[in-house]
Amino acid sequence: MASVRNAVRHRILLGVTVFSATDETLMRQALDLASAAAEAGDVPIGSVLARGEEVLGAAGNEREQSGDPTAHAEILALRQASVTLGGWRLPDTTLYVTLEPCAMCAGAIALARVPRLVFATADPKAGAVGGVMNLYAEGMTNHTPAVESGLLQVEAAAMLSGFFAERRGE
Ligand SMILES: [Zn+2]
Repeated sequence: MASVRNAVRHRILLGVTVFSATDETLMRQALDLASAAAEAGDVPIGSVLARGEEVLGAAGNEREQSGDPTAHAEILALRQASVTLGGWRLPDTTLYVTLEPCAMCAGAIALARVPRLVFATADPKAGAVGGVMNLYAEGMTNHTPAVESGLLQVEAAAMLSGFFAERRGE
């Protein structure tokens, strides 16, 4: 068992986690939601919460549109999924998000007992899953999801840098 865990950790460290076709499809949906958020003037971040292939929640960042500091894509997707499943526990799910979650979202993901988190690109400024801190470090949170990253990383990073470059040009 320990060797299996070490092998998994090793694979993630090397950045060669193998993702399924479903993973890629759902992350593409998250990227589409990120793109729609940018069209509406929000930082392009999108999130999909799924159980297998079944989408339970999906949202883009709506902070600017709603004027709500907590309207991050992950929070909105978690809320939808809770309504869909009729409770706050979200077992057997995966949360896909285009950018590494912040402290609020990483906390909410743990509270919802989401067992798996997949993010596309790291956030060295506000990421709470290794970027600036790791909320899932041993002993920090009760229920820590398995974390995988790097799926469609290039696309997600390009969308963000394009958005900020355009903003600076305005
Ligand atoms: Zn967040």
